Amino acid sequence: MTTTERLQDIYARMYDRLGPQHWWPGETPFEVMVGAVLTQNTNWKNVERAIDNLKGVGLLSLAALSALPVGLLAEYIRPAGYYNIKAGRLHNLLTHINQTHQGDLQAFLHQPLEPFREALLSIKGIGPETADSILLYAANLPIFVVDTYTHRILSRHQVIDEEFGYQEIQELFMDHLECDLQLYNEYHALLVRVGNVYCKKTNPDCAACPLQGV
Ligand code: SF4
Repeated sequence: MTTTERLQDIYARMYDRLGPQHWWPGETPFEVMVGAVLTQNTNWKNVERAIDNLKGVGLLSLAALSALPVGLLAEYIRPAGYYNIKAGRLHNLLTHINQTHQGDLQAFLHQPLEPFREALLSIKGIGPETADSILLYAANLPIFVVDTYTHRILSRHQVIDEEFGYQEIQELFMDHLECDLQLYNEYHALLVRVGNVYCKKTNPDCAACPLQGV
C-alpha cells in the first residue's frame, strides 16, 4: 500500500464506523478561536464550562473580551485550567487582531493562508496546533491540524516514526492527500474521536476500535 492509500484507508475506516463529527464544536468563528486557545492541555468539557461562563455574561465577542481586564478574564475561564496563562494567550491574540485589523474579525479571518499562519505563530502562546485549528476551523482554510492523538495513532500503526514532529506529520497528510478543506476538517475530528475513545495512552481498546486491522 502507498502512503496515500494507507491514509485514505484509515480515514475510510473511521468515517464508515463513526460518521461525520460536525467539527468544530462552536457556534461562531470567534467561539472557535477562543476554544482553540482554551483547549490546550485540558479536555473539552472543561473548555465548554469556561466558554459557557463567558457566554452567560455576554462576553463572548471580540469587543467585549478585548475590554475585559486579563485578571477578570482568567476568573471566567478558570474551569479550563492554566487560566492565568490562557487568559494571557487570549489577550495576546485579541490584541493582535485589534492592532493589525482594528478589531475587524471578518477581515482578520480572510487573510491568505501562509502569511496568516506566520502571523498567528508570531503571537506569544500560539503554537502550531492552535494556529492551525484557527486557520482550519475558524477561517476555513485548508491546513491539516496535528495533535498528540494523531501522533499516537499513526506511530502505533507504523505510518510515521515515533520521533516525527508536528511539521513532518502535517506534511505527510498534506503531501499525500488532496487539498480538501472538508476532508482535513473531518479527518482531524475523527482522529480526535478515535484517540479519545479507543487509542488511549495506556490500555488502548484495539478490539473495539475502527482501526483494528490497519
Ligand atoms: S486503539 Fe489500537 S487499533 Fe485503535 S488506533 Fe489505537 S492502536 Fe490502532
